[in-house]
Amino acid sequence: MRDFKKERERMVRSQLAARGIKDAKVLDTMKKVPRHLFVPESMLSLSYSDEPLPIGEGQTISQPYIVAYMTEVLALQGGERVLEIGTGSGYQTAILAEIAQQVFTVELVGALSHRAQEALKRLKYTNILFKIGDGTFGWEEQAPFDAIMVTAAPDEVPKSLKEQLKIGGRMIIPVGTAIQELVFVTRGKNKFKRKKLLPVRFVPLVTTH
Ligand code: SAH
Repeated sequence: MRDFKKERERMVRSQLAARGIKDAKVLDTMKKVPRHLFVPESMLSLSYSDEPLPIGEGQTISQPYIVAYMTEVLALQGGERVLEIGTGSGYQTAILAEIAQQVFTVELVGALSHRAQEALKRLKYTNILFKIGDGTFGWEEQAPFDAIMVTAAPDEVPKSLKEQLKIGGRMIIPVGTAIQELVFVTRGKNKFKRKKLLPVRFVPLVTTH
């Protein structure tokens, strides 16, 4: 039997804290959430390794550092309504659900959403709502959101997502095709601000229209 708790503690220490992740909520949460329940059985031994892993359907669960970094940037305090685009394995969803008040997560591939829903139900999360569909258009009925996290890359920041941010809201999103960058968007009273943060590689955000 592997000691997953020990592996998780080592992951937080050597991959996250050592590289500058400081938000105690993020570090504590990643120490707690069992990442190995979100990876395919054949990958179990790599659950806490420093890399993204395939989760089927040509998709991947993001590298732990990227999950931590994107979560930290959103600076969640606990009372937020958060929209996530690209449920994938559901691991990032769990991290958000631990910290925020309510998470709304949209996934295009039904099979992935169903698998993620099962894993998250087993862990007894009750503050997550799931939707299967094209997240390029956000989740109009549930908008506006305090924060939006997108984990697949469009060519440009989708307009609907910007519009579904509250004033004071913020979004973290990978943008680009061959070359991608994490972009941080904040919504002020009269305008949006945009800041490039770091080069990344995500699967493309598939658009269905
Ligand atoms: N956060 C996930 C990352 C999954 S990879 C994790 O850590 O497991 C990106 C996911 O975005 C894939 O599951 C993919 O199917 C999904 N995706 C791609 N285009 C999408 C779209 N237009 N709407 C919603 N989800 C989309």
